[in-house]
Amino acid sequence: MKRVSILGATGSVGRSTVDLIARAPDRFAVEALTANRDVARLAEQAKALGAKFAAVADPAAYGDLKAALAGSGIEAGAGPEAVVEAALRPADWVMAAIVGAAGLAPTLAAIRQGKTVGLANKETLVCAGALVTAEVAKSGATLIPVDSEHSAIFQVFDAARIDRVARLILTASGGPFRTWPLEKMRDVTPAQAVAHPNWSMGAKISVDSATMMNKGLETIEAYHLFPVGAERIDVIVHPQSVIHSMVEYADGSVLAQLGTPDMRTPIAVALAWPDRMAAPVPRLDLAKNANLTFEDADPIRFPALRLSREALREGGAAPTLLNAANEVAVAAFLAGRIGFLDIAACVEAVLSHARPAAPADLAAVGELDAAARRAAETWIGKAA
Ligand code: NAD
Ligand code: MG
Repeated sequence: MKRVSILGATGSVGRSTVDLIARAPDRFAVEALTANRDVARLAEQAKALGAKFAAVADPAAYGDLKAALAGSGIEAGAGPEAVVEAALRPADWVMAAIVGAAGLAPTLAAIRQGKTVGLANKETLVCAGALVTAEVAKSGATLIPVDSEHSAIFQVFDAARIDRVARLILTASGGPFRTWPLEKMRDVTPAQAVAHPNWSMGAKISVDSATMMNKGLETIEAYHLFPVGAERIDVIVHPQSVIHSMVEYADGSVLAQLGTPDMRTPIAVALAWPDRMAAPVPRLDLAKNANLTFEDADPIRFPALRLSREALREGGAAPTLLNAANEVAVAAFLAGRIGFLDIAACVEAVLSHARPAAPADLAAVGELDAAARRAAETWIGKAA
C-alpha cells in the first residue's frame, strides 16, 4: 500500500488523481487532501477515499468543512498552515497540484521530509527552482514530473548519461490562437482563452497556454528538472498534442513519448513509478492520428515565449518576478480588468524594473513575489 496525499485535490489535476486512486483501492491509502475553498467537493472526495485529514487554505471555510465532515471521523483543518500540515502528514507520496506560487510552501514541506513528490505545480520550480532542487538534494526526496511534457522527457531521459543528451524538445499545442494574427488577439475574451483545443485544465494554465507563457514556464521547469543547460532546451509547436516531448541524443537518436492528451497518463506514471498502473484513458490510434504536424513557435505573436526565455537566461530574481507578474496579470485578464495582450505587456513592464539578486531562502522568494505582485497591480491600475 502506498500512502498518498493530494495538495489541490479539487482542481483539474487533483480530480484526475482522485479518479485514478479511487480505481485502485488495493494500491493506495489516502492520508490528506487539500483545497482552496471548494468545501463540498473536498468533503465528498475525503469521504469517498477514506482520508484522515482534509484542509482548506481559506480560513473562512473552516466552519463549512467541519460541518460537511461531521460524523465521518475525518479531521478538518483550515488556513495556509493547515495545507502545510497536510503536506507533512505521514505519506510516501504527495501530489503537488495547487496552482501558482501558493503551492511552494506545502510542496517544499513535503520535499524537506524526503517524500516522493508528483510535481504538477510548475510555478514552484519557476519561482524557486534553485532552492527547491537544493532541498531535494539535501533531503533525498524524489521529484516525479506530472506536467505531460516533463513526464514524457522523464520517461525517455538517460539520467546516467546527461553529457550524451544533445537537446530536450518540448512540444507545444500552440493553444487556441496558434494561427491568429496579433491584431485579432487584442479582443480575445476570457471564455475564448480558456477553451483549449486539446486539454481540459484549470483556468490559469489554460490562459497560460493561450499566451504560450505555459511553454515558457515549462522551459524553466525543464531547466531545473533535467540539468542539460538552457541552450539545450527547444520548443516546437505540435498542434495535435500526441507527442508529449522528446529527447535528442549525441548519436542523432530522438526518443519521444506519445499518448492521447489525457492527464491521467502522466499522473499514473508518477503515482506508480517505478512500476506502471492501469489508466482508463482513450488509447492512441495512430492510423486515425496519421497527421502529426510541427511548426516553429512565433515569439513575435507570443511575446511570453521571449520574456520567459530572457528570464531564464538572466536567472537570479527574474523567473520569480516573471511568475508572480504573470499570475496577477492572468487573474486580472480573467476578471475582465485588462485585455489579452496586456498579460505579456504587464509581465514585460515588471521585468524591466531593476531587480535584486537570486532569492536565498523561502522568505526572500516571498518578498520578491510580493514586490512583483505590487508592481503588476500598479501597472494594471494604470492600464485599466
Ligand atoms: P485548478 O485551478 O484546476 O486547481 C488548483 C487547485 O489548487 C484546486 O484544488 C484549488 O482549490 C487549489 N488552490 C488554488 N489556490 C490555492 C491557494 N491559494 N492555496 C491552496 N490551494 C489552492 O488547476 P489545475 O489545472 O489542476 O493545475 C494545477 C497545477 O498543475 C498548476 O500549477 C498547473 O500549471 C499544473 N498543470 C496542470 C495541468 C492540467 O491539465 N490541468 C497540466 C500540467 C500542469
Ligand atoms: Mg504541460
